[in-house]
Amino acid sequence: MENNTILIKNALILNPNNFINKPQDILIKNDLISEISDEITDENVDKIIDATEKILLPGLVNTHTHLSMTLFRGLADDLSLDEWLNDNIWPVEANLNGYYCYIGALLGAVELIKSGTTTFSDMYFYMEDVAKAIEESGIRAVLSYGMIDFGDEEKRKAEIEENLQLYKNCHNTADGRIKVFFGPHSPYTASEELLKEVRKLADENNIGIHIHVSETQKEINDVSSEKGLRPFEYLDSIGFLGPDVVCAHSVWLSDNEIEIIKEKDVKISHNPCSNMKLASGIAPVSKLLENDICVAIGTDGASSNNNLDLIEELKTASLLQKVATLDPKVLTSDESLAMGTINGARALGLEDEIGTVEVGKKADLILIDTNSANMVPDSSNLSSNIIYSANGSNVDTTICNGQILMENRKLTTLDEQDIYKKAREALDELKKAI
Ligand SMILES: [Zn+2]
Repeated sequence: MENNTILIKNALILNPNNFINKPQDILIKNDLISEISDEITDENVDKIIDATEKILLPGLVNTHTHLSMTLFRGLADDLSLDEWLNDNIWPVEANLNGYYCYIGALLGAVELIKSGTTTFSDMYFYMEDVAKAIEESGIRAVLSYGMIDFGDEEKRKAEIEENLQLYKNCHNTADGRIKVFFGPHSPYTASEELLKEVRKLADENNIGIHIHVSETQKEINDVSSEKGLRPFEYLDSIGFLGPDVVCAHSVWLSDNEIEIIKEKDVKISHNPCSNMKLASGIAPVSKLLENDICVAIGTDGASSNNNLDLIEELKTASLLQKVATLDPKVLTSDESLAMGTINGARALGLEDEIGTVEVGKKADLILIDTNSANMVPDSSNLSSNIIYSANGSNVDTTICNGQILMENRKLTTLDEQDIYKKAREALDELKKAI
């Protein structure tokens, strides 16, 4: 990486649960935040950014995506998870290849950067092609290969090998921006043998795990009738759960399962828009937070959301808890902001590197323009301004690993129009192949 210094002048810094009510200067040296103070005068910086009338936040962390599925945005809507997957998504996915996944990931990366997400955790196929898109885009990612064996031994071996290859080829690549996790798809598509093998390999190699758990009532019924236990009870009974496991959705939870999640320090990725759109249910997020469980946020794939705007997702999370509990005091804007930043970092094991604006941490930062109709007048509570008033299009500048990926809403690493054109062509081809 080439040497690089950026000085951001006059920014209002909003950290989760901490706001300095006076503009600050921030000095970035290479990939790290090297100084924050009232005034930094440095003549020799490569670049100065004037952040007057802008709020500076840690880059947002999206803990559950299928980035290549951005290609399938709007392909099938208003259906149950079952019909959506079986009749619409899986037939198109059968014709996927590495190129389509690469284009889908580039399209997703454009949207993430433009809406202020600097880190995302992804589970899908052709992940080395996704890694290529990540390398080019400059964003940070945790990638996992979605392993499905349906109890078939040969398939199981091949799936595990695929994820291990991804680890060998991509972990810690792209200046350390890419990490690799295991991605067993779910307790109903991955066999007990596969889950146990993943646990063993995760322990041996210190690799995190990304999995869907307890998304729908149907899943609870299916797992319960097959295993005699609810999904989290079953996963606990085979020794699968631990602090390195990030569970997407986790909508249907018994009190006993919440106890298990807490005791095993399992991380939860809450995906409210996808859960609402597929009518899966409402995750008991405020109850999980009361139990000091780490709840992060995710958009899920754009085909069940249908966008990757994390600010919108955080607002939805907050409003959904309020209406579900009939208590407007739950999931405050401060708590929501923490879900989208430091909790996400913690879930991915990256809390020492990202999730807050702090000296010594990675320079993953975003600037939000407050000089916009939906942001005026400034609230005395900046997190309220961000969570309830803003949306992704208020993000003005996105920096990841010390590199500017967007400035004044113009991308620096990717050619937006070229990617839109290729994405449209790719979906046309995929649809023709059905
Ligand atoms: Zn998902």
